[in-house]
Amino acid sequence: MATSQHRPADPALIDDLVAANRILAREGVVDGFGHVSVRHDSAAGVFLLARSMAPGLVAVADIMEFALDGEPFGDDRRTAYVERFIHSEIYRALPEVHAVVHSHSPALIPFGVTAAKLRPIYHMSSFLGRDVPVFEIRDTGGDATDMLIRTPELGAALARSLGDATVALMRGHGNVVVGRSLPEVVFRAIYTEANARLQSDALRLGEGRITYLSDGEAAASMTTNAGVLTRAWELWRAAALGKSG
Ligand SMILES: [Zn+2]
Repeated sequence: MATSQHRPADPALIDDLVAANRILAREGVVDGFGHVSVRHDSAAGVFLLARSMAPGLVAVADIMEFALDGEPFGDDRRTAYVERFIHSEIYRALPEVHAVVHSHSPALIPFGVTAAKLRPIYHMSSFLGRDVPVFEIRDTGGDATDMLIRTPELGAALARSLGDATVALMRGHGNVVVGRSLPEVVFRAIYTEANARLQSDALRLGEGRITYLSDGEAAASMTTNAGVLTRAWELWRAAALGKSG
């Protein structure tokens, strides 16, 4: 068990993490399962994640602190998510990542189990890039796992698969989305799911032929979206916390 030697997290960051949980539930990215975490604002080796519970019910008192070995700090004995090693190993491997979403959002599942490649079909998902990696758990865990990231070893393999991408699909399971902040990771998780739905529709309508964003269009759109991210975040946050009037 890790010993706590850092300052408490900024209460505003904890509030945002609660909001992120509620938003992702409202938007259909997570249901009873899935989770979102954020790196501590002043201790890079610490991250915040709710105790094991449905994201739509998370409140401030449910937020726990974890070290990068995936274990909780101090004498916190509440039940933690089995798959917390997704978060711990991504934070360990990728210093620029400050927020992580893991979900089983349904429209992405077909892209993890077929040869169809998830690609940006419109400007809202320009962050997807050209090659969304697919994590194959059999390469590390063999062919009889329960598909869950139950160990640091599996989490580290997933982080390697993600590399510098923003999204990795997890074959037969779900996906992981990363960002530099909670608003960014929530935006990406919502629009990754939307892109998958629209891409599946377009594949059927267009008999398999789609005009995707070019690399140049994707790059320009990412810059534009970064500037307007807070507009969507404020709307989602107000609705999720019941402050939409
Ligand atoms: Zn999972």
